[in-house]
Amino acid sequence: EHLTNMIAAGEVVERPAGIVKECVENSIDAGATVIEVEVYQGGIERIVITDDGCGMDHEDAHLAFMRHATSKMHSEEELFNIQTMGFRGEALPSIASVAQVELQTSNGEEGTLLRYNYGSLDVDETCNCPRGTKLDVSGLFVKTPARFKHLKSISYEFSVIADLMNKMALSHPQIRFQLSHEGRVVFQTSGNGNIQEILYQMYGKEVAQNAIPFEGNNEDFHIHGYAIQPKINRATKYFMFLTLNTRLIRSVAIQKAILDAYSDYMPPNRFPIVVLQMDSDTQLVDVNVHPNKWEVRLSKQGEMLDLIKTTIQDALNASLK
Ligand code: ADP
Ligand code: MG
Repeated sequence: EHLTNMIAAGEVVERPAGIVKECVENSIDAGATVIEVEVYQGGIERIVITDDGCGMDHEDAHLAFMRHATSKMHSEEELFNIQTMGFRGEALPSIASVAQVELQTSNGEEGTLLRYNYGSLDVDETCNCPRGTKLDVSGLFVKTPARFKHLKSISYEFSVIADLMNKMALSHPQIRFQLSHEGRVVFQTSGNGNIQEILYQMYGKEVAQNAIPFEGNNEDFHIHGYAIQPKINRATKYFMFLTLNTRLIRSVAIQKAILDAYSDYMPPNRFPIVVLQMDSDTQLVDVNVHPNKWEVRLSKQGEMLDLIKTTIQDALNASLK
């Protein structure tokens, strides 16, 4: 069991940002409206994630650390109809196998405090805490030196976390996010749903003011988002924020469709910034491709790519006339 958890940890938590991703996704699934992430030493020393979500009772808190004990899926059919960020039930046991983890959680009644020390449960108490969940993860990979060795510099590890938090905020603009490093707040959103406001924080006024809204539909898909005016963008590489049914995804094919849409307008050495939110019937999506859930398989991908390309192209056309 401990060994299986450690193997899974290699797939889910390669680096501190992997822990942040899994825990923030859990907070989102718990219906949080405020999610705070505190990071020390790029997350290598310590990561604290606090949310105001539904929390857990004592029994659920224990179950959360059991392998494949997800509360989010109950049948085989649901695997092809996934509505939540998590569904594999391996993040918490994996993290607890390679770090020191303290969980404080309450569903509004008596709270629970659990402390795991590299896989073993050391503390199990009741506690006084507000409704929600706080997860404190420290000493990552200290007992697994081969993994520890693969961590990069503090500034690199932190930059991956910051990038992820930007994406999380863009994909869930109605949640209030806060990220701090060494006790200093470095990123904060209001949770008022305004994507342009988040772009302003990330890239400044010019980018935010030149964000062209777009929206498109076909029989199976609905897409919407913002494409930044090509001439404005001073990015040194492209920034494409892709979500499918609010899940952050990576897709080379979709990136290419966006580059195609921009191709007539892109001055040399300029790169698109695009926020693209895609919605589809969950039955058309298979998110169970890799444990880290970044990749998805989409039925009718060709249709989606056409829709993306033409919608963004039309929006750029209209705004540049
Ligand atoms: P999964 O998200 O795939 O279900 P995890 O290992 O990430 O698996 O979490 C295990 C379970 O712990 C979840 O199904 C959920 O019931 C519970 N849980 C984890 N984090 C939270 C949280 N922040 N708030 C409420 N419940 C949580
Ligand atoms: Mg999860």
